[in-house]
Amino acid sequence: MTGATETGDARPADVAIIGAGVVGTAIARALACQDVSCVLIDAANDVGTGTSKANTAILHTGFDAVPGSLESRLLRRGSALLADYARRAGIPVERTGALLVAWTPEQQAELPTIADKARRNGVTDVHPIGAGELYRREPHLGPGALGALVIPGESIICPWTTPLAYATQALAAGARLRLRSRVTGIRVGRAEHQVVTGTGVVRCRWVVNAAGLHSDTIDAMMGGGRFTIRPRRGELIVFDKLARALLSSILLPVPTARTKGVLVAPTVYGNVLLGPTAEDLPDREDVATTAAGLTGLMAAGRRILPRLAGEEVTATYAGLRAATADRDYQIDVDPARRYACVAGIRSTGLSASLGIAEHVTGLLADAGLHLAGRPEPDPPVMPYIGQAGPRPYQDAARIAADPEYGRIVCHCERVTRGEIRDALAGPLPPADTDGLRRRTRVLNGRCQGFYCAATVSALFARGAPAPARAARAAAGAATAEPA
Ligand SMILES: Cc1cc2nc3c(=O)[nH]c(=O)nc-3n(C[C@H](O)[C@H](O)[C@H](O)COP(=O)(O)OP(=O)(O)OC[C@H]3O[C@@H](n4cnc5c(N)ncnc54)[C@H](O)[C@@H]3O)c2cc1C
Repeated sequence: MTGATETGDARPADVAIIGAGVVGTAIARALACQDVSCVLIDAANDVGTGTSKANTAILHTGFDAVPGSLESRLLRRGSALLADYARRAGIPVERTGALLVAWTPEQQAELPTIADKARRNGVTDVHPIGAGELYRREPHLGPGALGALVIPGESIICPWTTPLAYATQALAAGARLRLRSRVTGIRVGRAEHQVVTGTGVVRCRWVVNAAGLHSDTIDAMMGGGRFTIRPRRGELIVFDKLARALLSSILLPVPTARTKGVLVAPTVYGNVLLGPTAEDLPDREDVATTAAGLTGLMAAGRRILPRLAGEEVTATYAGLRAATADRDYQIDVDPARRYACVAGIRSTGLSASLGIAEHVTGLLADAGLHLAGRPEPDPPVMPYIGQAGPRPYQDAARIAADPEYGRIVCHCERVTRGEIRDALAGPLPPADTDGLRRRTRVLNGRCQGFYCAATVSALFARGAPAPARAARAAAGAATAEPA
């Protein structure tokens, strides 16, 4: 479909959701499961390709949120919902806990205040430990730590499977997905809105703005213009799996008013992350890493975990936080314009996603959108790509039933032909090898595709087996929109 043509739908959708990041997909899932007809629109060729794919991947408890803020409430609720959803959907999560480490007497004096704040945020199991216990738990920690707060509920999570699971469930419940469709204008109407995209016009009764870094532009199209997004870049370094033994928990610094600071954390893929930086930028697309950023991170990492400096770096990346002048989430629904603005989801949107979706759905219902009032359906079971649980290459029974699960393609990450085939044949197939990477971990290891990229590209080019393509075409007639 090309040009700004009408889609030809006889009736407008109930809701058009602009932005298929972790927030937009969570909202689409919540609405579609309540029999609301919705179209999920994104400029990119896949779901979860914006800030949602490039963050620190921590499932926050919300212990350090501003007490009484909307973020605090939705983070606490969303984190609990996501922990349960992830367990049932097969999204990798490890409850490693976090240690918030004090390195100076001033930081140590801050710990009781942070513990009190955690309790005011409803996180009541936070407790202090002294230096002896801290070094017993984390023997590789650098010298000079004076003590820490233990936050047992902080966890690490797969940021890629999460929006994929939400979108998969939304599609199964009847939502339509319209990718490669940048929204360039909105004709606000009395009976319906017309969302103009690069691939045609989407007619809808309600608009939900979940456009992340571009949510102010969409807000202006709806006649708003109340806030401006100020991108804040965070650069990160990924260390090789051999570094994983250096730590047990997430190691947090004492936060400042501006940022949570540089942390060291394990990942659910068995690596170690160091970052992020915090740098305000004018450019909403600038996700380049910089020599200065990485040098600063290495210096901080050397202090926290000196042996990290000697470990191999697997990759570096950067993500952009959609910050606004207001620290809190910018979420409201205007019944008169039939418009929901879901913006300013800066540093915690992955953890809070299900809480945000529940809140927005409730606001829309209060404003007159009809929900079926159905009980929550079971989530889809996603391919497991974590390191802590069994993977297909380790499953003898599965390999006996289907030898493709025994044929490893990516030896760094132990990804098999069976998993690649399944991803290509799935209900939400990848549009490129980067999408395949986020679904399987292929190309993600220490060689970064040096050994397997040619095979992976050939498998990707071959695509899904014919029966899967036919099945998807039949299902897709009801769910997916061409682009
Ligand atoms: C460095 C860093 C570390 C972080 N660490 C964590 C963490 O550990 N835990 C946590 O919970 N959160 C963390 N976050 C925050 C979290 O990643 C975000 O809050 C979350 O990803 C925001 O999701 P979103 O769906 O709002 O935005 P996005 O993922 O950016 O999605 C917005 C989508 O809108 C689309 N879009 C924009 N404009 C248009 C248009 N005109 N037309 C069509 N589509 C459009 C984009 O293509 C994009 O896909 C971190 C963020 C950063 C940057």
